[in-house]
Amino acid sequence: MAVRIALAGNPNSGKTTMFNRLTGGSQRVGNWPGVTVERKEGRLRGEEDAVIVDLPGIYSLSPYSPEEVVSRDFLLKDRPDAVINIVDASNLERNLYLTTQIVEAGIPTVIALNKMDAVAKEGTRIDLGKLSKAIGCPVVETAALKGDGVDDLARAALAAVGTEAGNALRYSKELEGHVSAVEGVIRGVVPAEAERWHALKLLERDERLRGDVGEGVWGRVEAVVSAMEARKGDDADSIVAEERYSLIGRIVGESVDRSGSTRRGETVSDRIDRVVTGRWLGVPVFAAVMFAIYFIAIETVGSWGTDALNGYIGGTVMPAAEGWLTDAGVAEWLVGLIVNGIIGGVGAVVGFLPQMAVLFLILVLLEECGYMSRVAFVMDHLFRRFGLSGKSLISVLVGMGCGVPGILSTRAIQGEAERRITAMTVTFMPCSAKLPAVALIAGALFGRSALVAISVYFIGILCILMSGVIMKKWGSLAAPPSHFIMELPPYHVPQAVSVARSTLERAWAFVRNAGTFVLLACVAVWFLSSYDWGLNSVGAADSMLAGIGNSLSWVFVPLGFGDDWEFTMATLTGLLAKENLVGTLGVLFDPGGAGGEGLWGAVGGALTPAGGYAFLLFNMICAPCVAAVAAMRHELGSWKGAAKAVAYQCSLAYAVALVAYQAVTLLSGGGLGWGIVPAAAALAVLAYLLAARDPFGPFRRSARDG
Ligand code: GDP
Ligand code: MG
Repeated sequence: MAVRIALAGNPNSGKTTMFNRLTGGSQRVGNWPGVTVERKEGRLRGEEDAVIVDLPGIYSLSPYSPEEVVSRDFLLKDRPDAVINIVDASNLERNLYLTTQIVEAGIPTVIALNKMDAVAKEGTRIDLGKLSKAIGCPVVETAALKGDGVDDLARAALAAVGTEAGNALRYSKELEGHVSAVEGVIRGVVPAEAERWHALKLLERDERLRGDVGEGVWGRVEAVVSAMEARKGDDADSIVAEERYSLIGRIVGESVDRSGSTRRGETVSDRIDRVVTGRWLGVPVFAAVMFAIYFIAIETVGSWGTDALNGYIGGTVMPAAEGWLTDAGVAEWLVGLIVNGIIGGVGAVVGFLPQMAVLFLILVLLEECGYMSRVAFVMDHLFRRFGLSGKSLISVLVGMGCGVPGILSTRAIQGEAERRITAMTVTFMPCSAKLPAVALIAGALFGRSALVAISVYFIGILCILMSGVIMKKWGSLAAPPSHFIMELPPYHVPQAVSVARSTLERAWAFVRNAGTFVLLACVAVWFLSSYDWGLNSVGAADSMLAGIGNSLSWVFVPLGFGDDWEFTMATLTGLLAKENLVGTLGVLFDPGGAGGEGLWGAVGGALTPAGGYAFLLFNMICAPCVAAVAAMRHELGSWKGAAKAVAYQCSLAYAVALVAYQAVTLLSGGGLGWGIVPAAAALAVLAYLLAARDPFGPFRRSARDG
């Protein structure tokens, strides 16, 4: 069997960068915690049978979060042949906390002292010999970002395989006494090489070991633990944690020389953070950044590209294709299918690529430089008031690219209630597939204003927060928001290669969707809208699709977009992939294929601004695409759970769009129609759900343990 080497370390210590260096792989790197939830494997470069396993980033080996459980189970149950512990040298004290526990696990360990480039630049000197001696295992200097020390590290890790694990860490006499006492109790019950680890974990009163060691042993250990607590007047895990920190303090004091360090007081990062994460400016800065993103991507730079591309598709590609196909003697219906159905529909979506590409680029830059972590930090307070935390916000931010990874990333959230709520509401924030629809409505009805996009994001967040309150109150999901420890990594200039790769990856996913789901839907829409039930070629108004649409669109009349069946069909095809919102309208409204402007004109003529805005809101909040529903099923554990979520999403979408439509109509002098009655009712129900005292409170089960 191949030699297995695990990579373990704190979030953001550079594990993934190192993994890519060691394996030649291209896993995603982010200046962003929680990117690696599952472990990944890759073959060590230049070695036939050595496998590197990238574990999720963790701060300790306590079983408090899914990441910690994954890493802990792997180290203790699967027992790799060696561990590379990636330590962020610029944050030595905090990183060594995990190191103490890894070393205790009794697996041969090599420490990679990473980010040494940053440390050296700052003028701090670390004595590797002393550090290695104090901990009891080899230490290698690395800078994964530049590739320095990577070969040495690989060699050291291979050399460690098969050797005896070293551990020179010794705590205070008193604690060591307790360790020996517990070791005596558990001898023979746990594997000899992990005896010290178990002893210390049991002294922390780690409940998860209770089953492993059995009630009898647990009871005898408990006597030692209680005695220790009584003597110290503190709880067990704080006592052990304090011991670990004071030992780390001693080791760092001996081996690190900061006398030449330029890091006195504030760094540049600190100074930026004082503004960006400040109490008063944090949220306004975030709002300004959001505005800037959409101003650049949707309103200006991106839209120049989109206009040019649309003009090219509509003005050059479509007429040329039509002429060429007709000259070649292709049947008229097939020309219609290819030109109007496929090129028209897919083209309407692909035409937005420039805007998407600019948007992706900006989002990737913000992620990599470290700003996105600040957003989660800034919003943590706000989210906490609604029973969620900054961790939920990370999922939401991931979901802005695509809802599927957004939903899957909720696995990193500790609290079961918070995790489920987040999985059900992540898609309220528009993903990139929904943005063409935002751009279309903004362009067709609101003079391209970036405010349309901003307001949709704002309402998305509002819906998430409202849902947090409603679900906790009325669902069986009561539990306080989880702890949220998050470090703010120093800002740094993103790496061109990795930015380019992430941007292209996302742009490619957009194009790939256009070439599959959208293509499929466009062909179906074209077919259904070109023929009647007797398969006679007819105008769209008499087609099968119009028949289906007309039988359903009454549902959307109160929302102001039900008078034209095309919008109902766009909404339906949007369930397959949200790009279809625009693709379907492209086929139905723009058979001539004038691209952007033509489609905008047609949509602008069919809807009032209020109706267009309601169309947008409904489609942003209602059931996400099938891929995202499948992801929800995965995370919620059953189809029933996913079905409930979809029902909730659709009801909320309907209520919000209804209220918005009626309010905008009223405000713009449209007068009172009968629709005001259901709108007022919807508003009243929402208000009741939000404000009423919880009538089931006393009977509700706590979902804390899931
Ligand atoms: P992970 O969370 O542990 O997987 O860490 P990543 O590999 O995603 O890296 C986190 C951040 O640290 C990224 O912004 C990297 O570019 C940066 N980083 C990684 N290795 C180094 C290094 O050796 N030197 C410096 N200065 N930065 C690094
Ligand atoms: Mg990672």
